[in-house]
Amino acid sequence: MKRILAAGGAGFLGSHLCRRLLENGDRVICADNLYTGRMSNIHDLMDSEKFTFVNCNIINSEEVKKLDEAGPIDEIYNLACPASPPHYQKSPVYTVKTCVLGTMNLLELAVKNHAKIMQFSTSEVYGDPFVHPQEESYRGNVNTVGIRSCYDEGKRCAETLCYDYGREYGARIKIIRIFNTYGPMMDPADGRVVSNMIMQALKGEDITIYGDGSQTRSFCYVDDLIEGIVRMMASRDSFHGPVNLGNPCEFTIRELAELILELIPTSSRIVCKDLPQDDPMQRKPDISLAQQQLDGWSPKISLRDGLVPVIAYFKETLAQNRTGTGKTICMRTIQNSTGGV
Ligand code: UDP
Repeated sequence: MKRILAAGGAGFLGSHLCRRLLENGDRVICADNLYTGRMSNIHDLMDSEKFTFVNCNIINSEEVKKLDEAGPIDEIYNLACPASPPHYQKSPVYTVKTCVLGTMNLLELAVKNHAKIMQFSTSEVYGDPFVHPQEESYRGNVNTVGIRSCYDEGKRCAETLCYDYGREYGARIKIIRIFNTYGPMMDPADGRVVSNMIMQALKGEDITIYGDGSQTRSFCYVDDLIEGIVRMMASRDSFHGPVNLGNPCEFTIRELAELILELIPTSSRIVCKDLPQDDPMQRKPDISLAQQQLDGWSPKISLRDGLVPVIAYFKETLAQNRTGTGKTICMRTIQNSTGGV
């Protein structure tokens, strides 16, 4: 049984990952400062003796040093960083510090424990790409001084740190580049396109398209992504990545809006607003490397099928907000919850 640290484990992806690791029978330490993570995402895990929550800011090296006090750590997943544009732009300096200082602190912990460490990087490292679809060898088109740069450059520097800790200190690193992902447990208020549009349709409000909606994204259902993440961590030590993880089915933002209107009976209408600065015009992962290296991994769930449980989740969240019962809907149950972390 492994002891695994999930930094940012109370976030959308983190909570799905913690659930999957517990299902595998591992012990999980979830470290999160709840900047964007939510206790409601993990409240169903808190009763498990294999699960420990630690309120920890990875920017603070003293707090990170304490994370292995209860015993050595075998694997570290670094998901800790605000990830939606409104959240990471709210305090850009904090975002850079989380990516750079936070990743350094976790790399130090990984080296000390001889643990594998996985850095959650992003398709944002490709910026507004000239190459389409994006393969890992593409070095990107990132504005160093724009409003998205704190995240894009922060994540690029985190990749650099991983490789340098590998070369200089022997860190056992893995880097994944995640493309747009959606699923239950997304924060309905996080400002991303899937959550915004579903919430707007459910409330009968205008559906906001930024720009003319011709920009594209490729949306991956969270369970498909988690499968890729787990396979990457289990891959041979000499495979460090970076490797793209995402669903290569590409949609315009207008197509997404139209699909949501088809799936939700609503009086909502589509309206267009200004396109934010540096908003990438196209994004689609080339996943050949993941398919080769991760036992033929590829996403299985179509956007249409994946949106159904997400709509159900947001509907339930809205109903609970109306009745004031703030309980989280658990999409899975935890088994094998014995033993202490
Ligand atoms: N977007 C939109 N309406 C919204 C929120 C976002 O049209 O209410 C657009 C946004 O401008 C971008 C795309 O949808 O082109 C995806 O945005 P998101 O914030 O989800 O993620 P990004 O891929 O830009 O980080």
